[in-house]
Amino acid sequence: MKIRSVNFEKGVVSHSALPKDGTFEVAFAGRSNVGKSSVMNSLLGRSKVAKVSKTPGRTREVNFFKINESFYFVDLPGYGYAKASGYSRAIWAPLILKYLEEREELKAVVLILDVRRKPNDEDLTLVDFLREVGATTVVVVNKCDKLPLQQRQKQIKIIADHLHLQAHDLVQFSVSKGQGRDSLWKTLELLLTPEK
Ligand code: GDP
Repeated sequence: MKIRSVNFEKGVVSHSALPKDGTFEVAFAGRSNVGKSSVMNSLLGRSKVAKVSKTPGRTREVNFFKINESFYFVDLPGYGYAKASGYSRAIWAPLILKYLEEREELKAVVLILDVRRKPNDEDLTLVDFLREVGATTVVVVNKCDKLPLQQRQKQIKIIADHLHLQAHDLVQFSVSKGQGRDSLWKTLELLLTPEK
């Protein structure tokens, strides 16, 4: 995918403010610090997402980036700080769950995990929810450079088992090594292509 433009469209905190232009979109979800912004930036070949999404006031928004004037990357707020569990429940739940369940433009959810950690309750709850509502989910296991091959394969198997998936269903990714980028783009391009 050749990226010609990345423009921040808007940050959204209520359902009524979601873009209504019918553009297809891919949303990115993950526990804080798994490298969600880094993965998005790596796909886009620039650092726009972190710059916008990590500015004060924007970390709790659903941030829409228009790519090549033709589709959106949607950065969902990170979840999972223990001290923010009230926030996770209060904000993540209503706006985002409704978004994931009802948004017709949403063609895929990319769930990002850290290869060194097994999915926690919040990850599992989200995966179950996405299955329940029939949202296409692509699981990306990031920071693969952090583990040597054998340990990595072991972890991938453990993560896949927890999610009731096969190891080959997971996209192994490393922002620092550029691993998984082409493979993830191929999957996303297919999902974003309008059906003929
Ligand atoms: P976010 O909170 O999920 O958006 O996470 P960030 O994108 O801010 O990344 C959190 C930290 O992990 C940063 O210090 C990144 O440089 C680092 N990081 C992200 N992806 C990778 C990766 O693939 N490998 C390594 N070694 N570090 C990464």
